[in-house]
Amino acid sequence: MAYRIGVIGGGQLARMMVPPAIHLGLDIRVLAETEGSSARLAATQVGDYHEVETVLAFARDVDAVTFDHEHVPQDVLRTLVDAGVAVHPSPEALAVAQDKIVMRRRLSELGLPVPDWAAVRDAEALGRFLAEHGGSAVVKTARGGYDGKGVRVVREADGADDWFADLADGEALLVEELVDFRRELAQSVARRPSGQIVAWPLVESVQSDGVCAEVIAPAPKSAGRLAEAAEAIARTVAERLGVTGVLAVELFETDDDRLLINELAMRPHNTGHWTIDGSTTSQFEQHLRAVLDLPLGDTRPHDAWSVMVNVLGGPEAGTLAERLPALMADHPSVKVHDYGKDPRPGRKVGHVTATGDDLDEATYRARAGAAFFEG
Ligand code: ADP
Repeated sequence: MAYRIGVIGGGQLARMMVPPAIHLGLDIRVLAETEGSSARLAATQVGDYHEVETVLAFARDVDAVTFDHEHVPQDVLRTLVDAGVAVHPSPEALAVAQDKIVMRRRLSELGLPVPDWAAVRDAEALGRFLAEHGGSAVVKTARGGYDGKGVRVVREADGADDWFADLADGEALLVEELVDFRRELAQSVARRPSGQIVAWPLVESVQSDGVCAEVIAPAPKSAGRLAEAAEAIARTVAERLGVTGVLAVELFETDDDRLLINELAMRPHNTGHWTIDGSTTSQFEQHLRAVLDLPLGDTRPHDAWSVMVNVLGGPEAGTLAERLPALMADHPSVKVHDYGKDPRPGRKVGHVTATGDDLDEATYRARAGAAFFEG
C-alpha cells in the first residue's frame, strides 16, 4: 500500500508538496481552510485546524501528519500524539517555532548565537532595553507574525504601547537589538525521525519591507567557513530541538562577520523554493521523505547558480493565467510557479526561478520573468 501523508493547511507550501508526492507514488491529503485553497488539488477535507475532532478525523488513516504552517494549537497536536498519530515535526519542536520568545530562550539555552533580547511587558522595560542598546531596538509580537507583520523598529519607550495594550495576561513582547547586518542568509536542512540529516547550500535572501523578495543559491562569497558555520548551526538546531522534516534557519550576517539566528521555520520555506528547479531533491520532496522517515535525497545543485524571485501581488487587472502565454513566449528559460491564489497587493502569488553558470544573467532572467508575471 502507498505511504499516506496528511498535510494540515492548504497554502502554497502544501500545494508544492503535491508534485513530488505524485512522483513518489505517495497518497497525499490536505486539510484545507477553504474550498478554493492553494492546495485544492489535494484537499480531501475542508475544516478548521483548531477543532480537535476535525483534525483527528483527518489524521485517522494517514501514516504521518505534517504542516503547511505553524499555527495548529498545542492541545490539538498533543491529542493527535496521544491518539497514536505520527506528527512531524513534534509538538515539542513546533512549540519553539510557534512563539518567538520561546525560540529566543531555547536557542540561548543551547548556546546558539542570537541577537540580544528580552521579554518585555510594558514601556518601562522597553525603555530600559533601549537605554542599554543605543536607543533603538526591534519589537516583535511573540505569536502570529509573518512577512514582517508584527515586527517594528522602535526608538522611544512608548513606541509599542498599542501592542502592550493588546497583551493578554502572562503574554509579553520580544524586544531585540537592531542588528547591523551585511545581508540575510538562510540555511535549510532536513532531518528524519531516525536521525539522518542533510543540508542544502547556504543561500542569501533579499528582503523588501520585511518580505522575502529574492533568493540567491548559493549565497555569493559563502564558500568555506561561512557555509560550514551556518550548516553547523542548523544541524545543531535540528538535533537539539528534535526537528523532523525540513528546518529553515534565517540568519543575519553581521557587519562584524558573525552569524546570528533570526528565525526558525519547521517546514519548507520561501528561501528553499529554488530547490524545486535547482537541486536534485527539492525541499518539498525532502520534507515528505523526512516526515515519513524515508531515506533522504541528494541536495546537490544542478547549476552553479539558482535565483528565485517572488511574484508579489499579481496584475492589477486580470489573472496570472492570462499572462502565462506571453510569459512563456518571451521568457522560455525560466521556471514559472503560480500558486493559484487571487491577486492581492503584497500577497505571494507565485515565483520564478532561473538557473545557470552566470549569476548576473540568471538574476536578470528571473527578475524579468517575475516582473512580467506581476504585471
Ligand atoms: P517575520 O516572522 O514576520 O518573518 P522576522 O522576525 O523574520 O519576521 O523579521 C522580518 C524582517 O525584519 C527580517 O527579515 C529582517 O529584515 C528584519 N529584522 C528582524 N529582526 C531584526 C533585528 N533584530 N535587527 C534588524 N533587522 C531585523
